[in-house]
Amino acid sequence: MAGEPQADCLFCKIVAGEVPATIVRETETTVAFRDINPQAPTHVLVIPRAHYPTAAALAAGAPELAADLLREAHEVAVGDKVDETGYRVVLNTGTGAGQTVFHVHAHVLGGRGLQWPPG
Ligand code: IMP
Repeated sequence: MAGEPQADCLFCKIVAGEVPATIVRETETTVAFRDINPQAPTHVLVIPRAHYPTAAALAAGAPELAADLLREAHEVAVGDKVDETGYRVVLNTGTGAGQTVFHVHAHVLGGRGLQWPPG
């Protein structure tokens, strides 16, 4: 069923506390933790507790949760004090866009100059 935990999902295991992570924020519906391979001084992943594989699945199945994700991305930026200089929120969606973990996650990147277009 949509949103149910998946036994083989790394990020579901982080939500369950079965895989360690450096958690920076938690809400009833979301968890935010530092990326294991940071690409900027601030690189935090914000995920819904519920399992949706992609941003597209989340937007279609639980749009209110997509709003939570975006709100939390901003709170992470405020917490790391990168909101004033600027930060980027990235949702890689599909393998062609570089998505490697199929539990939707918003990357929050900041703390350095960010180029456009991204690679
Ligand atoms: P994607 O390529 O957009 O799917 O992003 C997946 C992200 O998850 C990458 O930036 C990885 O560095 C990150 N990642 C993978 N495993 C872990 C982990 O165990 N803890 C924290 N971040 C992870």
